[in-house]
Amino acid sequence: MYKIIDGKALAAKMRAEIKLNVQSFKDKSGKSIGLAVVLVGDDSASQVYVRNKIKACEEVGIKSYSYRLDKDTPQDKVEELVKSLASDKNVNGILVQLPLPAHLDSKKILSLIPYEKDVDGFCAENIGRLCMNEDCLVACTPNGVMQMFASEGIDLKGKNAVVVGRSNIVGKPMAMLLTNADATVTLCHSKTKNLKEKCLEADILVAAIGKAKFITADMVKEGAVVIDVGMDRDENGKLCGDVDFENVKEKCSFITPVPGGVGPMTITMLMYNTYLAAVRSL
Ligand code: NAP
Repeated sequence: MYKIIDGKALAAKMRAEIKLNVQSFKDKSGKSIGLAVVLVGDDSASQVYVRNKIKACEEVGIKSYSYRLDKDTPQDKVEELVKSLASDKNVNGILVQLPLPAHLDSKKILSLIPYEKDVDGFCAENIGRLCMNEDCLVACTPNGVMQMFASEGIDLKGKNAVVVGRSNIVGKPMAMLLTNADATVTLCHSKTKNLKEKCLEADILVAAIGKAKFITADMVKEGAVVIDVGMDRDENGKLCGDVDFENVKEKCSFITPVPGGVGPMTITMLMYNTYLAAVRSL
């Protein structure tokens, strides 16, 4: 019998804990905790993400500073803003919402965020520290997945973990976190040969591909833990994941749904990283 890992419930529980920690930080230090959110342009999905992040800040007691710049804002103006936030003592975390408009050099702009304030965990310093298993700010989505394993008492030591997808923001840091947790990790991508055979070896299977219902029941081992990071649309335009949930679930010991699985954990981990950045700034 499979168990569904309820990301919504875990996220709510964690946010309540973060709220208490934020309050205790404020009481002890006499300082507030601040997250700066920079949005350039009017991409509708980005606007929704930014709104949700600001709402989450309010929920846990983190002060948000929102900067909305016109879509034609030149490179030097965005750089100026990020540099000023980098040296602003009230700002513990800086988040530049991606994607940036095409005329902007995203890499250059992101490189101006000091690693101590890189609450997305995307910069080279944080990724490098993660590889070396040192203190760092970990990318929110894969870190959220690790919390899901912990909450269910899923032991990763010595397990075969297969991650499908090698993006810098999900797949690669996920593989690194699993490696640091003593799993034996295979990182797959679009050029991987015999993907099905590799997935069938997985005690832990993480799908971060971006293709609706790509992982089918014949790719999953009996008793596997299946984590679905995907946020896709099915043939009817309905939100679904990278895993064919209805057919895969019976083979699993644990599985995450979409929606209500990994998704709610991501912003929660952003709040956690901002709190952590504040604690480390003292
Ligand atoms: P991405 O940058 O597009 O990366 C997709 C990865 O999947 C790439 O490494 C690609 O391989 C691999 N891939 C594509 N087709 C494949 C195939 N046929 N077989 C094996 N591998 C294949 O995507 P992402 O940003 O990591 O996001 C992945 C999914 O997670 C998306 O649905 C996204 O919306 C979702 N997501 C959810 C959250 C959340 O909070 N829940 C957060 C972030 C992302 P190559 O490298 O060879 O091209």
